[in-house]
Amino acid sequence: MSGYVGRFAPTPSGPLHFGSLTTALASWLDARAVDGQWHVRIEDIDPPRCPPGTDTLVLKQLEAFGLVWDGPVTWQHDHGERYEAFLNTLVESGHAYPCGCSRKEWQAYGVYPGWCRHTPRHPERSSAWRLDVTSGPSTICWNDRRLGKQQWPLEPLGDVVLKRRDGLWAYQLAVVIDDAEQGITDVVRGVDLLDNTPWQHLLHDLAGYTPPRMLHLPLMLTPEGQKLSKQNLAPALDTRRDAPRSILHQALMALGQKPPEELMDAPVVDQLAHARAHWRISRLPGCNVTARSTT
Ligand code: GLU
Repeated sequence: MSGYVGRFAPTPSGPLHFGSLTTALASWLDARAVDGQWHVRIEDIDPPRCPPGTDTLVLKQLEAFGLVWDGPVTWQHDHGERYEAFLNTLVESGHAYPCGCSRKEWQAYGVYPGWCRHTPRHPERSSAWRLDVTSGPSTICWNDRRLGKQQWPLEPLGDVVLKRRDGLWAYQLAVVIDDAEQGITDVVRGVDLLDNTPWQHLLHDLAGYTPPRMLHLPLMLTPEGQKLSKQNLAPALDTRRDAPRSILHQALMALGQKPPEELMDAPVVDQLAHARAHWRISRLPGCNVTARSTT
């Protein structure tokens, strides 16, 4: 068993589609290629965005594609205490601050200009909690396994929200604490999250953890060039009978893995066994991919 611990962390705001399948698949292959572990974590910190039952549907879809996970599935809604404890340490050490400003007040600046860093402007209002990006290193560097050396100054990214004014936890804080607590060594996810990584690495540093290695994948695009997503109505993966076989084959092709044609209609376990033995990051496309229709 290698020391690799990977994860797939879907937000259950809708069923998985072809784009989310390629993320789950690449992350599974990267882990299984080295006999690593692979966990599933349901990122349901924003209940209004997550229709009841979607988590179960997502898990059934993963099963239909043979993407078997290790250990119990975890749900972020169970982790409020650990998020609170981390936020408290950030506040005590001067890295997080309350902010009652509304987006309308600062949106002309592009990113929040840090008005409440030292003194809250609106102490009478309910507050969000923000990360002070000027309170740590000025630049975050890491080596992305597909994109190579990354160097991101933090200040232009702004003081990201860690806990929202309505009391809900924000993605940046939750993902870092859960990755750290679960001992995740490797994150494989879409390149649309690349610009979130500097905040997350800063938070790992502040929490005293080593950030995981990162691999940001090309995005799957609609024929119009938009990211396949629930917002632009990407169809749910078809899990009926043998449908997953050809969809899995297409997903492997989209990831540049050159699956043999004769395996196109093979059971998903056979396709996965082959793909796992032949997984190469160097074959991932260098740019985003227009996905063929999967319905
Ligand atoms: N929950 C996020 C999503 O579904 C992914 C988070 C991550 O992989 O870091 O887009």
